[in-house]
Amino acid sequence: MPALRVGVVGASGRMGSETCAAITHDPDLELAVKVTHSDSLDALVEEDAEVAVDFTTPSAVAANVAWCLDRGIHAVVGTTGLSDDDVSELRRKAEASGANAIIAPNFAVGAVLMMRFATEAAPHFDRAEIIERHHENKLDAPSGTAARTAALMSARRPDGWGPTGAEAKSRGEDHRGVRIHSVRVPGSVAHQEVILGARGQTLTIRHDSIDRASFMPGVLLAVKAVAKSPGVTVGLERLLFPGA
Ligand code: NAP
Repeated sequence: MPALRVGVVGASGRMGSETCAAITHDPDLELAVKVTHSDSLDALVEEDAEVAVDFTTPSAVAANVAWCLDRGIHAVVGTTGLSDDDVSELRRKAEASGANAIIAPNFAVGAVLMMRFATEAAPHFDRAEIIERHHENKLDAPSGTAARTAALMSARRPDGWGPTGAEAKSRGEDHRGVRIHSVRVPGSVAHQEVILGARGQTLTIRHDSIDRASFMPGVLLAVKAVAKSPGVTVGLERLLFPGA
């Protein structure tokens, strides 16, 4: 079978360059084109890319992915910052064009498991807070992973959480009843702690990506799966635990 032709958008960035290297080392994939900020997306069409991977910026990602779907190119989206409205619009585009997208705020299997364990624990505790820590150049806060964790946990509590405590500047931001604290310091890659509390006990679930290599197995899995995943799939867990 011929190798799947993959384009990387944001190819010179931290995640983009790691993705280019991972694709180059995979015998089932061919790195068809690298698209940097100074290039046109037309290069994806000119080089017959079947799948485009986007690791750009929150301000560019929605338009990039819409552009790909309109042209029948499947998209794997790692860039965070897409709103619910953006995702709804991409669903419409995917339906109209027949091209698919997989959107994952975190491609590290450990992070997906951390979210799953936190979601499982959510109904059993009174309150939960999230501390996420990333490198100082991360543009968005809170992280897409933290926002998604809060959404998944809160979905398991139909009656909501208890009060989240006094409003004060250093108490983080309330996301559906879960306060998120965002730390941005050099020396970090992507780290998250979910702390759940009930009377007399706490449970802490923690994940650390200490190298961007941690994201690559998930990225490659999504690249290989996207053509067979109809419409827009949100979350790597849909590929890792399809029956759940
Ligand atoms: P980065 O190093 O700043 O890379 C972003 C790259 O995209 C830069 O090279 C930038 O070029 C380029 N770019 C910006 N707009 C573009 C456009 N319209 N077309 C083509 N290229 C464009 O950032 P990063 O650390 O790689 O992170 C990228 C995104 O991935 C962020 O949203 C981050 O939160 C997310 N992320 C996701 C995961 C996951 O597992 N899903 C993991 C880590 C990071 P210029 O610098 O020239 O503007």
